[in-house]
Amino acid sequence: MVKQTIQIFARVKPTVRKQQQGIYSIDEDEKLTPNLEIILPRDLADGFVNNKRESYKFKFQKIFDQGASQETIFENIAKPVAESVLAGYNGTIFAYGQTGSGKTFTITGGAERYSDRGIIPRTLSYIFEQLQKDSSTIHTTHISYLEIYNECGYDLLDPRHEASSLEDLPKVTILEDPDQNIHLKNLSLHQAATEEEALNLLFLGDTNRMIAETPMNQASTRSHCIFTIHLSSKEPGSATVRHAKLHLVDLAGSERVAKTGVGGQLLTEAKYINLSLHYLEQVIIALSEKHRAHIPYRNSMMTSVLRDSLGGNCMTTMIATLSLEKRNIDESISTCRFAQRVALIKNEAVLNEEIDPRLMIIRLQKEIQELKDELAIFTGEQRTEALSDAELLQLEKLITSFLDDQDPESRLEVGTDMRKIHHCFHHLKKLLNDKKIHGKSTVSCEIKDQDCQEPLKEEEYKKLRDILQQRDNEINILVNMLKKEKKKAQDALHLSSMDRSECRHSQSLPFPPGNPEGLRTLPSSAPKQIQDVSTFGYRSSLLHRKTGMREEMSLGRQEAFEIFKRDHADSVTIEDNKQILKQRFSEAKALGESINETRSKIGRLKEEITQRHMQQVALGVSENIAMPSMPDLLEEKLRSQLEEEKRRYKTMFTHLKALKVEIEHLQLLMDKAKMKLQKEFEAWWTEEATSLQVNSPAVNSLSHVKPFPQTPEFQQETSQPLFNKSNVNARKILPSPSPIPHSQEHNSTSASLESSVPERPASSVPLTGDSQTDSDILAFIKARQSILQKKCTSSAPSVWIMRKVRPREPT
Ligand code: ADP
Ligand code: MG
Repeated sequence: MVKQTIQIFARVKPTVRKQQQGIYSIDEDEKLTPNLEIILPRDLADGFVNNKRESYKFKFQKIFDQGASQETIFENIAKPVAESVLAGYNGTIFAYGQTGSGKTFTITGGAERYSDRGIIPRTLSYIFEQLQKDSSTIHTTHISYLEIYNECGYDLLDPRHEASSLEDLPKVTILEDPDQNIHLKNLSLHQAATEEEALNLLFLGDTNRMIAETPMNQASTRSHCIFTIHLSSKEPGSATVRHAKLHLVDLAGSERVAKTGVGGQLLTEAKYINLSLHYLEQVIIALSEKHRAHIPYRNSMMTSVLRDSLGGNCMTTMIATLSLEKRNIDESISTCRFAQRVALIKNEAVLNEEIDPRLMIIRLQKEIQELKDELAIFTGEQRTEALSDAELLQLEKLITSFLDDQDPESRLEVGTDMRKIHHCFHHLKKLLNDKKIHGKSTVSCEIKDQDCQEPLKEEEYKKLRDILQQRDNEINILVNMLKKEKKKAQDALHLSSMDRSECRHSQSLPFPPGNPEGLRTLPSSAPKQIQDVSTFGYRSSLLHRKTGMREEMSLGRQEAFEIFKRDHADSVTIEDNKQILKQRFSEAKALGESINETRSKIGRLKEEITQRHMQQVALGVSENIAMPSMPDLLEEKLRSQLEEEKRRYKTMFTHLKALKVEIEHLQLLMDKAKMKLQKEFEAWWTEEATSLQVNSPAVNSLSHVKPFPQTPEFQQETSQPLFNKSNVNARKILPSPSPIPHSQEHNSTSASLESSVPERPASSVPLTGDSQTDSDILAFIKARQSILQKKCTSSAPSVWIMRKVRPREPT
């Protein structure tokens, strides 16, 4: 049993502007516990002059200032917890702090760079690496991902996300067994055999969460998310199984309702959060008070789920995330105060071992049989009738597999029946005699062979050959995947340059469903590939349903999407990541080639060594002298070269594996960013279509056209009166060639604007009769108008435009 108080750490988020930074200092004496001092300037507006400043000091296990990297956070905070989980103890890491202070960044990671990976992906990577190293134990890993929102639990990995909206899914509920153990009903557990599979689950959960979120339901700041890694391990042959759970928790924002200052729906939510964090606080207060008999875990779902993590069988760590800007000082102080109370809680972690009843039964059955057999020997119970043919055949099969078994400990189990024992001896004798007759010549041959091979024993040689074969296969798979990726990248390039109409037939979506860059790369085994494909298929269809996206995009919609995409703030990140990805692919390719070269070199060296050795032996035989006792210098040299090449091979292989993980991660990040983009586009599109229907007679009036909800810089632009904007940069919104035949197209003068905007009601626009296509056409026209409008603001006479196309202030 390990007794430990909850470990508390502080992490300060980088402030964007230095002048907004509050005053704080970190006092880190090697011998003492580090101190965070926050200085609160006395408010001079209180009416009296007071130069004294109030200072608050808080102790933490360690404090990470603004510059701390994700790697440092993982090494110092998460790695020790992951290690104890691997040793069989439960662990929890939770991030607490106000919205925007960096909880999600710390727990899951940033959405842009690979180096921004947070605690979850790094911990998964570490755990799988350790499990792979330990081949003496059988491990299984499962993942679950729970979201608690307004006191209801949702399974973020429920496959039914595809078919239903969040509200229609069965809620995760808590069940308590007579031993007061908590069980979560409707929370699915997914086995993950590799880091890749676990990462896919993480991204799937995050995507489900993102898709369920709407502006009315900003779940990410108001809900708690618990990502759990369940580990079980067992020694082969043992009936004892070890279970350990690691909860990685991203709590809701800890800000108070008063500050939220909102009404209606949002207030209800804020109250809930407060309520749920309030209950967490109550549990923590109760736990930190000595001799408190009752701990109110049951008051909220979150405290029930995290019951073990708080004062129970768990090693728990809290990260207080702080945004120390002046306006956030109050919240930061309350976060630190909360942490100080948490630090008083003592947990008692025990090894969670249990006996697997099935294995126990098998073991007991065997023991009973053995005892019965022994008893039969003692009681002298004999059987006289002859063994049947089937029994004889069965015995011979047993003998063959016994002889084939390489394990020196293996036994030939025939019980105590003397007839069977005799038959076995008889059969073995026969086999031995047969072998003597047939095998005399071969045996001597083998002995000679073995002599020749002495330095590189046959067994060792075989082992090396097998390893080489395995590596060969791995490399072939990797190289194939790289080829496929490259081809896909080329195809994508080709496609984008293709005529739009062709594009329409070959590609129904701006991003093909699921994974636009192709299937997952570099899977290490075929069955996994299938799993990956299904995950992504699932993900894409999920997106379709959730975003209301249709398989076939009309031309107008496609065009609008292209522009939307180009102007979106995230497109820079997507482009950047695409570039990095390309770079990584070529790195991986080059590495794959070097690995291949090294492999052939190893093969050649081995061949040379064998030949050299044979020459030496032949020399000895011909000159009738024994093997020279002096080591052969050339052979030694070859051997050291071989070792060197093997080392190189291993290093490169490890590097290639790391590259593979990075490529995987980058692709997932991009998938996520693209889904977000598409989702935002769909929302914008729907909104436009709705407003179009409402205002249909005025489709020619530009007064209600809402600009794309794009980069903040553009929003700023449009919120200013247009006559001030004669220098607006129009590059971003240049219209692309129109798929709809327009008589007058995109001239940048105001006159041509007038003619490009249909001066007639929407009903007189040539429509197809299909309502969906029609609304697409109308929406396209509107999008086009909004583009032209933006374009014209940059060059047209401002007063005219003011009258004609001034947009509404953005909502
Ligand atoms: P929370 O989950 O607490 O509401 P987030 O993790 O979403 O906050 O962080 C808010 C923003 O600040 C995000 O854009 C995030 O990328 C950024 N951020 C937070 N912490 C850091 C950090 N340590 N370094 C860089 N950016 C950060
Ligand atoms: Mg967050």
